[in-house]
Amino acid sequence: MQVVGTGDLSSGLRRPSGMRDRIDRWMTGEGTVRILTATSTAMAQEAARVAGSAPAVSEALGDLLTGVALLELAQSPVERVQCSFDHDGSAGQLVADVWPGPEVRGRVKNPQASAEPLIGTDGELRISRHGFRGGQVYQSRLPVSGGSIAGALQQFCLESEQTLTLFSLATVTEADGRISRAGGMIVQAMPDCEPEHLAGVTACLEQADFAALVRAGEAPADATMALLDRMDLHVLGHDPLLYQCRCSLERAVGAVRTLSPEELEEVRGGRVEEVVCDFCSHQYLVGQPELDATAPAAEK
Ligand SMILES: [Zn+2]
Repeated sequence: MQVVGTGDLSSGLRRPSGMRDRIDRWMTGEGTVRILTATSTAMAQEAARVAGSAPAVSEALGDLLTGVALLELAQSPVERVQCSFDHDGSAGQLVADVWPGPEVRGRVKNPQASAEPLIGTDGELRISRHGFRGGQVYQSRLPVSGGSIAGALQQFCLESEQTLTLFSLATVTEADGRISRAGGMIVQAMPDCEPEHLAGVTACLEQADFAALVRAGEAPADATMALLDRMDLHVLGHDPLLYQCRCSLERAVGAVRTLSPEELEEVRGGRVEEVVCDFCSHQYLVGQPELDATAPAAEK
């Protein structure tokens, strides 16, 4: 597995201006408050297409994926961060799986849900981080309340990570159901942040609302600049943001190898196993030829 750095990649990549999904990172003049803004329209559109979700569910899924991508890049950029949000709303469990990059995939239990509320007020957030070096997994679970994805992530940062991080998320769908814009912003106090530094930022944030600006048609990065113009922001870097399912025939074969010896014998005898990706529903058929083609050397 290749670890993708989080440096400024923009100089080495040709990027059509403003078209590609990305996360922009800034720091305030004092260097104690960090701001990350995601432009995630294409990512949210792809997530909705893969999930086959109704517009309102697509908005919730887009918000969760955008929020967890921001969290991954801010807190653990070289780790895989998985987040599952269980709650008592009709959309059911939402899952985000973010790999270094960030590369994102997600799913929702009831993509066509319509009964209000889609997101329930009582929930539980489970977040796990998988380190690439050493392979340790850290898990946290936290009861959350309020029925908002931004609020749940904010509560997680404050209570589980002891970091003050404000989340603002917006996934906008049009009358025809299409996602026209998606984005998110986090504002994070660094450990040496003085109360007056934060007060300056919160005063700016009280003037207008990031999500409302994005819903009104503002590009996410422009919305951040409009809100925090007075804070003397300097650019830390940019990272590309992608929707990417990571399933493959190789992984499907790996899953079939975990069957019991008796079942594996049946596959070798001609039975074909169907393996379906939890995230994108892609179907892989694994029979004896596939097992043989990717057999570990020791088995040959
Ligand atoms: Zn897949």
